[in-house]
Amino acid sequence: MTVLHWFRRDLRLTDNRALAAALTDAKQTGETLIPVFVLDSALLDANRAGGTPRAAFMRNALISLDTTLRARGSHLVMQAGDPAQIIPHIVAESGARVVYANRDYSPYARHRDAAVQAALGNRFHLLDDALLIAPEQIATQNDTPYTVYTPFKKTWWDIPKAAPDEQPYAFSPLPEIASDSIPDASDPRFATTLDLPEASETAAQQTLADFIAGPIFNYGVHRDQLAVAGTSRLSPYLRFGLLSIRVAYAAAQQALKAAPDDATRQSVATWISELAWREFYTHIMFHFPHVMHGNFRREYDDLQWHDDPAALNAWKMGQTGYPVVDAGMRQLWQTGWMHNRARMITTSFLTKDLLIDWRAGERHFMQHLIDGDPAANNGGWQWSAGTGTDAQPYFRIFNPVTQSKKFDPDGTYIRRWVTELRNVPTRFIHTPWQMDAPPAAYPPPIVNHAAARERTLAAFKIIKD
Ligand SMILES: Cc1cc2nc3c(=O)[nH]c(=O)nc-3n(C[C@H](O)[C@H](O)[C@H](O)COP(=O)(O)OP(=O)(O)OC[C@H]3O[C@@H](n4cnc5c(N)ncnc54)[C@H](O)[C@@H]3O)c2cc1C
Repeated sequence: MTVLHWFRRDLRLTDNRALAAALTDAKQTGETLIPVFVLDSALLDANRAGGTPRAAFMRNALISLDTTLRARGSHLVMQAGDPAQIIPHIVAESGARVVYANRDYSPYARHRDAAVQAALGNRFHLLDDALLIAPEQIATQNDTPYTVYTPFKKTWWDIPKAAPDEQPYAFSPLPEIASDSIPDASDPRFATTLDLPEASETAAQQTLADFIAGPIFNYGVHRDQLAVAGTSRLSPYLRFGLLSIRVAYAAAQQALKAAPDDATRQSVATWISELAWREFYTHIMFHFPHVMHGNFRREYDDLQWHDDPAALNAWKMGQTGYPVVDAGMRQLWQTGWMHNRARMITTSFLTKDLLIDWRAGERHFMQHLIDGDPAANNGGWQWSAGTGTDAQPYFRIFNPVTQSKKFDPDGTYIRRWVTELRNVPTRFIHTPWQMDAPPAAYPPPIVNHAAARERTLAAFKIIKD
């Protein structure tokens, strides 16, 4: 008999709840632990992750995982197809007694896991791992899910959180089991021309260590400055579980203790609050799965969005004529990551200046973001669109010029990504259309912000009244 650990978005061999439970179980009975990954054909089709930089990053993470397992005498068993068929098949082939996996909270994953559960019954064990606080662990006094971030965070903050488990995991050689090899980098589902961050546990831990050693203490000041590398860049690692959230949180707690004064302590606390945002949006997706397709606030279902393919395309290509918007959009498709402040500016521009349905933008982000996560992306988009959990949503309309002046004062970020504007003097960098002779290669604004603002306020007011 054997014990299976099914890896999904937990591609690591340290502080991994289900993997630890599977190894303990196998050890007690002297069984072999079989590490499994399924290349889920539904997730890798062209409408979802197939062909995205995120899929390429995941492929690299799988190579790294397999390499580490091999160094420890095991290897990754991989098969492609529908997990609801493949997992029971591997169970039958390997004579597995039980299957362990970490919970994934998206509607798709829950549906998938229910199908596997139906096939395996009580031989399928799901554990909480990806969050510090699982959705069932937190509720309002009325026993309902929190729908507003600030009170959520207050309660979340005080709930004791598990420390990382530092036990080393030991593996043993596998019996003969059919396994596909990890797809080649030329496979169109995993091909990319981007220069991706290294996808390994070691790289994840190093990125955390670098951040905790210094930048976290200035996070409060630097995190909004577009040209400063002031954030952790941990998002792809947390997305695929190359880094344990408990390890990240414990490191931040150490930093909190080490912080020399109030300002640096506040910076660390602000970073921990971002981890709370990650948990909040995952809980929202779990409790209100309709957000994956529609507005969190259903009253906005009647909002009249504009169908404007040309404007949508200009936004995607970073050709709106608003330099800071275009810089963000080009950073996205040229690197697979976008600064959080730029995510807020570009999403506000699409939904409020162009009045284009947030779902079109959400899809585009999911196609390009290496950290693309259904809950965080959806939460971010609905926050910007004003259709989400936020209490005072609709009159928040970012002025792209004001944002640009505030968060990229000398235009360094703009010049880096919008190279046509590299030589524009700083006094015109946020508004090149005001120059006597703007650079010919750069388009004029596709919309007048003041007029667009009025149009949006009117569209939202119809719903409010
Ligand atoms: C429209 C929009 C879409 C977004 N889409 C995603 C996405 O698909 N995946 C994703 O991980 N984040 C998303 N975010 C949140 C945020 O922009 C990124 O997490 C952050 O920019 C990643 O960089 P970092 O790791 O350096 O973050 P840091 O500032 O160092 O934050 C640390 C970690 O906290 C989490 N986090 C930070 N901010 C948020 C937030 N607002 N919501 C949820 N989690 C957060 C991330 O896991 C991040 O790695 C989105 C934000 C917006 C406004």
